[in-house]
Amino acid sequence: MSRLFFLIMSLVLSAMPAAAQEIRVTLLGTGTPILNVNRFGMSTLVEANGQKLLFDVGRGASIRLHQRRVALRDVNAVFITHMHSDHITGLPDLYASAPLPTDDGRRATPLDVWGPVGVKDVAAGIELMFSENNRIRLTGGETREAATKIIPHDVAEGVVYEKDGVKVTAFLVNHGHVKPAYGYRVDYVGRSVVLSGDTTLAPNLLKEAKGVDLLIHSVAIGSRALEKAEPEYVNHFYEYLANPETAAAVLNETKPRLAVFSHISLYSRGAIPRATEAELVARIRATYAGKFAIGQDLMSFVISPDGVKADPYDPDARHMEP
Ligand SMILES: [Zn+2]
Repeated sequence: MSRLFFLIMSLVLSAMPAAAQEIRVTLLGTGTPILNVNRFGMSTLVEANGQKLLFDVGRGASIRLHQRRVALRDVNAVFITHMHSDHITGLPDLYASAPLPTDDGRRATPLDVWGPVGVKDVAAGIELMFSENNRIRLTGGETREAATKIIPHDVAEGVVYEKDGVKVTAFLVNHGHVKPAYGYRVDYVGRSVVLSGDTTLAPNLLKEAKGVDLLIHSVAIGSRALEKAEPEYVNHFYEYLANPETAAAVLNETKPRLAVFSHISLYSRGAIPRATEAELVARIRATYAGKFAIGQDLMSFVISPDGVKADPYDPDARHMEP
């Protein structure tokens, strides 16, 4: 690549307003299927060049968008990693609420949803579920015909979305018996974020996340006491979600500028309590010296020419390491 190319690129980038050069990532939900008022269902918003891309739509995603003052109507595209319920239970709410004549609503276009096999059934099922609602609201002038449609798109490995310089690439990960399960990488003006989806060690992820600016990774942990007392129970989960040691190995291999954990699974059984977040941090820190954070709902991260920075919603709920 010539020096002239880099000179032209740097001139183009320096002429762009700061916000246009950013990728902003917001954790809308960092939880699992387990009901938790602090960790809603899995969902991550990625904003770049004016586009709002939603990765997974778990329980409460619309509430979290509202809290972050992102109008539901402005979601441009939805990407589902896999068909576990905790990644899609918020989709009917988003679909039904975005067209309404509210401050968050007035969506006037169909909702584009990318997902693995089953995405067509999800789209058709939601449209069917709300068919009478839509008839009533169309009659009452509270929605528009176009906004009653979901357009499903089948995901396969490779580039699945490309618009105005924002590119989304899907890759297969290793979520045990859950096949297919995808991770996604978003690229924009030389900046990048990888969302692992639910996975344990996966060769594709190691490749896609190598040197990425921001890696959002799933993690699961049972306390040492639980691992000792119930190894079969815990190891079953570790076969499809990375434990802290596997996650640390992934970070050591890929060396992201910042890693953030989401889909935080803290296992308990009987009288043995859940591992704490402090234990999770300690076990990752035992073998990983780089920068990482335990994600909290509503945390944002900005990837800009200045680096990768956290933009917390509530500083008291934030845990950054180091
Ligand atoms: Zn899953």
